[in-house]
Formats: sequence, structure tokens, C-alpha cells
Amino acid sequence: MRQTLTEIEIMAICRECGEKFTGKRSVAAFCSTPCRKAWHNRRMTRGAQMYDAVMAMRYDRKRATELGIDWTFVCRMAEMFNAEDAALDVRKSYRDPFEVAEELGAMVNARHGWTAAGGGKRTAA
Ligand SMILES: [Zn+2]
Repeated sequence: MRQTLTEIEIMAICRECGEKFTGKRSVAAFCSTPCRKAWHNRRMTRGAQMYDAVMAMRYDRKRATELGIDWTFVCRMAEMFNAEDAALDVRKSYRDPFEVAEELGAMVNARHGWTAAGGGKRTAA
């Protein structure tokens, strides 16, 4: 009997707990629903915190600077998140940069007239 792609079980490592599991989809990343939720909830919380910091730096710069919210602050947030991941014994909580570039790179760069590599000449405002 011929197997379709969705019927084939693949061995994967859970992004959250690091356990090996078999998944039926080639994109399976989590061994269980609790692991999937934990990973996504941690990213949502951290993402909102970073969003607020970056938006304050960009659009409320004077107050952000007075309060010590700058790139050093954001980098320290990242270091704190990384240390939390290590303490929780979970795998890295951020996606591969290639995935991020695939998803956002073309959209962000095209909007500002930059090349895909992130450099190049600015052609549009
Ligand atoms: Zn897991």
C-alpha cells in the first residue's frame, strides 16, 4: 500500500522538552499539546515585552532613554530569556534565522526598498 506524506511517521525532537517523538507530519515540532502551548506562550510573553521596549525606543525615544530602555536593555532582555531557557532545560525558544528571513525578510525589505541581504540602496521611503 502506498503511503501519503501525512501517513509517514517521522522521528523528531520536541522544541520544548527535547524528547524524541514520532510525528505524522514532516513539520511536527512538539511531542504534545502542553509542550506546544508552553513554547508558544513563552514566546508570546517575551515578544510582547520586546515589542513594547522596541516601540518605546522608536516612537517615545526621550522617555525610553530616560528610563534606560535602549539596545543594551533589549540585548540584556535576550540574555535573560536565554538564561531562563537554560534553567528550564528547554531547547532554544527562537526560530532559525532562515525561517525568520523567509517569513519576514522579503516583506520588510521590499517595503523599504532594501535588498534581500539586508543591505543595498534605499529606493523608496
Ligand atoms: Zn515535548
